[in-house]
Amino acid sequence: MKATLFVSQDFADEAVSLLETAGYEVEKTYPLPSKPNRLYYIPQDKLKLLQDQETDAVVVFDLLSPRHFINLNRSLNGKKVLDKLLILLEIFALHAGSKEAKLQIELARLKYELPIIKDIYSKTKISEQQGPLGAGTYGVESALRLYNRKISKITKELEGLKKFREMQMQNRREEFPYVAITGYTNAGKTSIFNALTGLNKPTDQSMFTTTAPKRYAIPIGSKKVTLVDTVGFIRGIPPQIIDAFFVTLSEIRYANALLLVVDISLEDSLLLEMTRSSFEILRELGISGKPMIIVGNKADLVDGRSKEKMDMVYSLSDNLYSPVVDAILVSAKKGWNLDSLRDKIFSLVN
Ligand code: GDP
Repeated sequence: MKATLFVSQDFADEAVSLLETAGYEVEKTYPLPSKPNRLYYIPQDKLKLLQDQETDAVVVFDLLSPRHFINLNRSLNGKKVLDKLLILLEIFALHAGSKEAKLQIELARLKYELPIIKDIYSKTKISEQQGPLGAGTYGVESALRLYNRKISKITKELEGLKKFREMQMQNRREEFPYVAITGYTNAGKTSIFNALTGLNKPTDQSMFTTTAPKRYAIPIGSKKVTLVDTVGFIRGIPPQIIDAFFVTLSEIRYANALLLVVDISLEDSLLLEMTRSSFEILRELGISGKPMIIVGNKADLVDGRSKEKMDMVYSLSDNLYSPVVDAILVSAKKGWNLDSLRDKIFSLVN
């Protein structure tokens, strides 16, 4: 799926990385308008441009109102219209390992779409009164009823599941030791997962597939270890989907050990800030005591100071979490130090 993306400068890299995870190939990027258009969010001239383009999806990396959704859907003849919240839900769904996570994601989506359906309903109701072309009303009305029914069904199911969650956790058995790859979006988690599992394909269309596995058992020495590419940490998650995010990420709770991937090429203060908030999220998830390796990725982009930066991240991490058992500089892109990372993972689970 080819996508046209509207995104602010400071989220551009992450947004592209997230879209790729969700199976989109970003063809063209535009900045977010400083003042959103009242009807379409995006400026009229861009709308005209998009109408003639062959792109499959238009993604606005911000929150759209029901009115924006409805108007964009009407004007963009069949192109998929997505905002930040819907994209994130698509990504959560790819990583959702439990029934609870799947339901929580579905619930968030239904709740988000409900006002859009309501808006369509109120409009068709008015037009129906004015003429005989109100055939759509019944459709929208029953869609509304269906949404409400689904929402209450899922809510009930989730309440039931939550009661049993603790029990399920104790019963869950992994075949092999399970290592979760965590870290912020764009740090290179998937690249490392692909490199270690050998699942990396040449950079072609097949890269943009949502069927890529997120967990995979690899032989290390005489044993096997299951690596899990988690949904990772994401900046600026809309509050409506925080629950869905945490339950998706909570897969980390079952891990025997963790890799925390950081993008070592980030500027120092941002690097430390993201490291610090990674540990805050882990604490919110109730994760402690699992042995961890810090993986400083994108070493190929840092000249000279990579060791110094890694030491900085390591000592901060060691202050905030225990046990941090090791740290290593790698480049998933160049294949640097990956054998040595594999060895470290092996000693981590033994
Ligand atoms: P994730 O969001 O953490 O899973 O990150 P990805 O694996 O999708 O990588 C994000 C971006 O960083 C992609 O454009 C990768 O090609 C790039 N990337 C990943 N690892 C490296 C690396 O070691 N060096 C460089 N230069 N780029 C990398």
